[in-house]
Formats: sequence, structure tokens, C-alpha cells
Amino acid sequence: MAKCNPRLSANKTSIRGVVGELLGMTNPDMPLISLGVGDAASFSCFRKGKADFNEALIDAVSSSMFDCYPPSYGFPFARRAVAEYLSKGVSHGISEGDVYLTVGGTQAIQVCLTVLASPGCNLLLPRPGFPPYEAAAELAGIEIRFYDLVPSRDWEVNLSQVQSLADENTIGMVVINPNNPCGAVYSSTHLQEIAETARDLNIPVIADEVYGHLVFGGSRFVPLASYAHLAPVIIIGALSKRWMLPGWRMGWLALCDPCGTLKQVKIATEMLMNVTSGPASTIQAAVPRIISDTHEEFHRNVLTVLETSLNLLYSRINQIEVLQCHSKPRGSMFMMVEVNTTLLYGIENDMDFAKELIREESILVMPGSIIGLKNWVRIFFGISPELLIEACDRIQAFCKRRQI
Ligand SMILES: *Cc1c(COP(=O)(O)O)cnc(C)c1O
Repeated sequence: MAKCNPRLSANKTSIRGVVGELLGMTNPDMPLISLGVGDAASFSCFRKGKADFNEALIDAVSSSMFDCYPPSYGFPFARRAVAEYLSKGVSHGISEGDVYLTVGGTQAIQVCLTVLASPGCNLLLPRPGFPPYEAAAELAGIEIRFYDLVPSRDWEVNLSQVQSLADENTIGMVVINPNNPCGAVYSSTHLQEIAETARDLNIPVIADEVYGHLVFGGSRFVPLASYAHLAPVIIIGALSKRWMLPGWRMGWLALCDPCGTLKQVKIATEMLMNVTSGPASTIQAAVPRIISDTHEEFHRNVLTVLETSLNLLYSRINQIEVLQCHSKPRGSMFMMVEVNTTLLYGIENDMDFAKELIREESILVMPGSIIGLKNWVRIFFGISPELLIEACDRIQAFCKRRQI
């Protein structure tokens, strides 16, 4: 038997594994509606005004100027465009030299955790959370410590728990804002409290702002970099969500470090970027036109459709007695819903709920236990309102049938 990396050989439950199992259980008489793993980009209702993005790429390809290798950290003009985008409204701007272009937000997560990993270290992650952080931490040999997001406080970070979990080996805390899976959008007061906690603990904040600006209902997105004078911020972003281009695999890692505490991290990031491979040259070439130009019609339409779907889902879910959404999402594309299993026949937990729902109604939802919250489910609402109505009808019919 050939040997392999033991960190990759453990038989762990992964999202893909669970989703794969659930997808094998659909009702053959009904078309599948996936509210489990989200890809809004597959719906035409989000495409209005999107042709500009394609043109930027077509021009890059047609010019033949980007058949070459890109520099290890990305083309300077593309890094500058990202730096300018991230610096808007932030007093400690992000400079071109502190932006590293990555293959989607996922590679930014991997680079960040690989760079921060030191022997015996631990990392604070939110629960419920986003599983790629756990996967990247495990691969890098980082111990994971979960802090809770509190449903009764609009999913704010439990900061006293963060303080008690951290020790001298803690290398950082991950904050996802706007939040996947809860849909929370943190106030500037709460973001400042987070930064103050990180300052007291002497750790950087890893700010996953992949859903940055995807906020509605009058909410405002405040970048964590606004508080970088308190604690250094490592920003993770991508074109995948706000611009609906997940297949382009374009993301970034950016350092906002006005106090200069990330000097070693920066050197290590550059060493790692020098020996890995980043996003395709042609995709990088399209970045300035995509993120610098306003594309107002596109962004407005995305927010309008998302908010329509959210309002629809929220009112329908709260009409179902066995389901409850405690805190209406104000951003991202996800909602956490609590399932009252004691009122449901033949359903003991969130996994049973997801299995029975897909078996009977061909609706996929994400069981909360795989992201850290038992007897909750995560529902994706980045789909067309018409399809969401159909999905809600089926969820309602299922719950009614199963209610004791
Ligand atoms: C989608 C997502 C990412 C980045 O994903 P890519 O598809 O690799 O760009 C990062 N963080 C969160 C919370 C996400 O939902």
C-alpha cells in the first residue's frame, strides 16, 4: 500500500460527502431544487448588466497580451485595482503591494492559514461556520477552537468566549461579514468591539468579506479594515459572490497593517506565493474593469432580486410552525433556520430532516450539524423568486405532512 499524507486520509464527514449522499436520494418524480450549496450565478435573473464583465475578458483574450505568465503576486495593475476598491471609505488604505491575487477566495483562505500556521498554534473560527476554514486549518496542522455566533443577538460574536478560548498560541480569529451561513451584517460598534478584542489578545483578524456590499434592508457594510489601527486585518475577498463570477476563480488576500505587526506574515505570504500558482493572466487582466467600474444596473438588480427572494423565504418560513428563523438575514445569500424536531414525525435531527425532505420533495437544504449547529438547517436564497416560491410550497407541504 502506497503511503500518503495522514491529514488527507482520515475518513471525515465533508460537505461534499454529505451533499453527495443527499443528492442520491431525490424523489425521481420531482425536479431537484437546491437550497443547499449555493451558486446564484447559474440563475439568469442575476445576469442583467453582466455583459460588461464578459467584454472585459474578451478584450483581454483578443489582445493576446495576456498569454504570458502572470507575476507571482498578480499583475501590478490588477493588484492596484483591488487595493483601490478595498481602500474606499477606509482611513488606513490598502496599498497595491499588500494585495495578493489568488484562485478564488478559497486559495486566499489556504494561503492565509498556511502562512499563519506555526507549531502548536490554534485558530478561532465561528460556529456555525464555513467548512473550508476547518479543512485548510487541518491541512496546515492548526488546532481549531470554535467561538459561537449568538442567534438571539443577531448572530453577533460571543466576545467573552473568544477571550476565554484564546491563549499565547492563538494566531488569529476569523470573522465572516456579511456572514455565511447566518446572513448577519455587523454594526460598526460590533466590528470595533471585535477589533478591540483582537487588540487585547494581540492577534490579527482574518476578515472574510467575500459577501462585502451584498447587504439589504437598509443595512450598511463596514469593512473591518476601518479598525486596522486597533488590530491588523487580513482581508479575504473574491469576484465570486458580489460579481456573480465564481467560475472565474478570482480572489485576493490583502493585508491592512498600519502598525506593522504583519511584517513576517507578509514575507511568508510572498515566499508561499512564489512557489504556488495564481489566477490566469486573462482573468486578472479583466479585474480593473470589473471592480473599478460602477456597473450600477448590475449591482442594483442583484440586490433587488436577492432581497425579493429573502423577503419571500423569511415570511414563508415563519408561517411554518416547526421552523423558525430568529434573525432575518441582512446580507449574503444564506439563512439559518431552527427545526423543532420534537414536533416532527420520524425526524430526530437536522440530518433526518434534510434526508426526508429531499426523499419526498427533492429539496436540498444543508444540515446544520455539518456546520456546527445541531437541529438547524442552512437555506440558500440566491435563487430566482419563482423557483423559491415552488421550494417554499414543497417545504411547507412536507412539514405539514410530518407535523405531529
Ligand atoms: C464563497 C465563499 C468564499 C470564497 O469562495 P470562492 O468561490 O473560492 O471564491 C469564501 N468565504 C465564504 C464565506 C464564502 O461563502
